[in-house]
Amino acid sequence: MSPAEKPTPKQSIKAVRGTRDLLPDQTPLWNHVESTARAIFSRYGFGEIRTPIFEDTTLFSRSVGEETDIVSKEMFTWEDRARAASEKAQSLTLRPESTAGVVRAYIEHKLGETGQLQKLYYIGPQFRRERPQRGRYRQFWQIGAEVIGPQSSGAESPIRDAEVLEMLSSLLDELGIRDWRLDLNSVGNADDRARYNAALREALAPVKHLMCPDNQRRADTNPLRVLDSKDEADQEIINTLPKIADFLSPESRTHFEQVLAALDASGVNYNINPRLVRGLDYYTRTTFEFTVTTGLGTQNALLGGGRYDGLSEMLGGPKAPGIGFAIGEDRLILTLQAQAEADAAAEAGAPSSPAVSSPVRVGQAWSPKKLDAYIAPIGEAQNPAALTLARDLRRAGLTIEVGDGRFKLGKSFDTADKLARHIILLGEDEVATHTATLKTFATGEQVKANREELTDMLKGVKP
Ligand code: AMP
Repeated sequence: MSPAEKPTPKQSIKAVRGTRDLLPDQTPLWNHVESTARAIFSRYGFGEIRTPIFEDTTLFSRSVGEETDIVSKEMFTWEDRARAASEKAQSLTLRPESTAGVVRAYIEHKLGETGQLQKLYYIGPQFRRERPQRGRYRQFWQIGAEVIGPQSSGAESPIRDAEVLEMLSSLLDELGIRDWRLDLNSVGNADDRARYNAALREALAPVKHLMCPDNQRRADTNPLRVLDSKDEADQEIINTLPKIADFLSPESRTHFEQVLAALDASGVNYNINPRLVRGLDYYTRTTFEFTVTTGLGTQNALLGGGRYDGLSEMLGGPKAPGIGFAIGEDRLILTLQAQAEADAAAEAGAPSSPAVSSPVRVGQAWSPKKLDAYIAPIGEAQNPAALTLARDLRRAGLTIEVGDGRFKLGKSFDTADKLARHIILLGEDEVATHTATLKTFATGEQVKANREELTDMLKGVKP
């Protein structure tokens, strides 16, 4: 073979930028977070909804809004060509958020016709082409919920807003998230927002040329987004802009006051933040965001949400006021990990670690557990018997790994010690007599037992 014909080594394929793998040492924490969320949601009467991961592109442009960053530059969109005469070519998009899909499903399945308030939650991946950094990914997970229904179901009532916020505060407390902060505002109804937008445009007209290019663009396309800007140099101008509170109708103002009164009564702490407008087109009245101080750096928003009383109509559905939120699950996990690291450092007496103030600690629930036993067949001939024993013990509810009789005994012991609390030795003699030798790593104790005794010992029934 000449050098020119030499096969070039194949380039290894990596996960796409902004996406990542969650390995088995990480997924227990994810499962712990998700099962805690499911348990809490069910206590508040929520049921799970699973909507498709891709939708018609129009769903997002109509609801989230053409002028938002999400729709204008972050969506993964493709033209899905027709393959058969019965199919139409269609623009499809990987969902960048789930509220639009849930409301589409609410309309499509006529859930409003039940007359009941619909309380729906979801857990799943979302996709946005953002610049990846810690806490910001192109595929990320959200845990979210929506409360939506016909007006007669009370979906518009301030008690629904307060209940959602109280549930979130309970969820964060139960998960052990410390030092969270709830920022709250009202962006009014559609009319209030229209008047406010007009006032913002007017106030921005003489000064926008002094602002950064992003804010100059927003001043024309979506002036509310200027308030979200983190650009340092523009803050002075932003602070002089009109405040939404001065444009609220009496009804919007009363609604907001009633939300605050219910929060006060249930002891949920909040900060009213007049600049919290959230840029999506569908938000009305209550908007909110929870931030944390540990672990997230600049991407410190843990979750966000708000009311969307006109969204169903924007999507061609019946009047169906609603309120919802989406928690960034990746960020929730990063926060829990950072807190656990800070705790470990504090326990080790590291001087620079933040003080451990909360009684709520990230428990052991999500740390990987050792298996009950590792079965080491001695000699290849014992492999079938080892697999049968593993089957029986697993059926009895025990967690078991089974080795290979080709391994040297020393290697089996090393592996077993890493993975499991016990090693079960299965030699020719044990197989013939239906027994096994059980060694407990913690005590060094070694006993010979029959199959029944073995199960009991592993289950801790016998000393
Ligand atoms: P939003 O749907 O934009 O209101 O976002 C709700 C929450 O989702 C945010 O507070 C973040 O915690 C999380 N989130 C949004 N975008 C990303 C992203 N690109 N990567 C990770 N988390 C995100």
